[in-house]
Amino acid sequence: MSRTGWIEVVSGVMFSGKSEELLRRVRRATLARRRVQVFKSQLDDRYGIREVVSHDNGRLNAEMVGSSSELMQRVRADTQVVAVDEVQFMDDGVIAVANALADRGARVIMVGTDMDFRGQPFGPIGALLAVAEKVDKLQAICVRCGELATRNQRLIDGKPAPAEGPTIQVGGLESYEARCRACHVVPPYGGQTSLLD
Ligand code: ADP
Ligand code: ZN
Repeated sequence: MSRTGWIEVVSGVMFSGKSEELLRRVRRATLARRRVQVFKSQLDDRYGIREVVSHDNGRLNAEMVGSSSELMQRVRADTQVVAVDEVQFMDDGVIAVANALADRGARVIMVGTDMDFRGQPFGPIGALLAVAEKVDKLQAICVRCGELATRNQRLIDGKPAPAEGPTIQVGGLESYEARCRACHVVPPYGGQTSLLD
């Protein structure tokens, strides 16, 4: 174990390259012969289990975890680098887990999308950004106008999804686009227009 650990957060909109960046950091740590464990919230089952997969089809084996306490239990005492993908789906206990692992000397890499489809902070990510030593916010390209995209646009049947939908919705009828602030649309609570037109 190194004398001091730290927390790194890689955050940003979907399609911004967060998983690519996680894979890059983990590969470099492995080349440097660090002992690495990669985890992922089991809520994200888009690509089948047990792998971190980036949208450009890079892949790496990952251990699936359902809660922050399970994460803490699964990290081995001699692990030097702990990476967690889709951390926005984890419970708030993940903040204490990240701090505890960094306190005992681990390099902790937390990766997740920063905002939900409404543009609100997603789960524990805001607090993780606050306690991290190092933060990288990534952007995608807005599919409407070509500017830098920072927002997750949820679409149902191709139309902007209303604000009252569930925060966590992986797969299914809806889909997501990366959009800039100006092109991001969230019909307000009670807005029925998408059902009428
Ligand atoms: P994240 O983990 O942030 O969702 P990934 O690392 O899985 O991102 O995927 C990033 C890749 O997604 C890019 O390298 C690119 O090939 C692809 N991509 C798809 N849509 C977009 C977009 N609108 N802007 C940028 N990259 C996109
Ligand atoms: Zn735009």
